[in-house]
Amino acid sequence: MRNEHGQAIAPWFATGPVLIVLCLLITGVLIASAVALVTYRYSGLGQRSTAATVNVFGAEAAARGWPARTPHAKPWPNVTQWSEWSVFGARRRIAWGAAPDGRSTSRQMESEFYGWPMPVVVHTQFWWPWNDPAWTTAAKPDTGLTLEPVGVIIDTLLFSVALWLVLFGPGVLRWFWRRHRRRCTECGYNLTGNVSGRCPECGTAIEAHPTRDAPS
Ligand SMILES: [Zn+2]
Repeated sequence: MRNEHGQAIAPWFATGPVLIVLCLLITGVLIASAVALVTYRYSGLGQRSTAATVNVFGAEAAARGWPARTPHAKPWPNVTQWSEWSVFGARRRIAWGAAPDGRSTSRQMESEFYGWPMPVVVHTQFWWPWNDPAWTTAAKPDTGLTLEPVGVIIDTLLFSVALWLVLFGPGVLRWFWRRHRRRCTECGYNLTGNVSGRCPECGTAIEAHPTRDAPS
């Protein structure tokens, strides 16, 4: 692209602020994915021998409900036992439900969540009486790893903002501090009593400061 003087101009996505935001968002989504992958691979949730972080029964379990959407159009029975194992960035929830006749555990669901602070990927498996004609479904008993859109968006934004703070926060703070102290925002030169409207050190134009004169 060229402007009216025939000089090359950058397309909109390559202009400073847009490019910075794009780079921050791309880096943010990469960090969020990397955290999810690391917790998936190394969280140690596979070791079932460890005690559950939460293990509740009866009404308390029913109140927590199934950890993911049930694969059937009609509701599953109430949860009768609900357990959770959680470590940094990863948690597994297993719920068991009695059959409508109350005689046996006939439903089970196991969901694993990976990512920090919000889960980015989820893997759910279901167990139900497959051979009961009343509970046939085309849904698969294993979802595989699926993306959690809300987690992807929130984690990406959080990591992008954190990255922005690390990269640009000190510079922004310095800019405000220098302006407050009546110093040149570019080079820090003391502008107390300056009337030229320009920093004598680096030539930066000085912002008018009508309400406040030089602090000591
Ligand atoms: Zn200056």
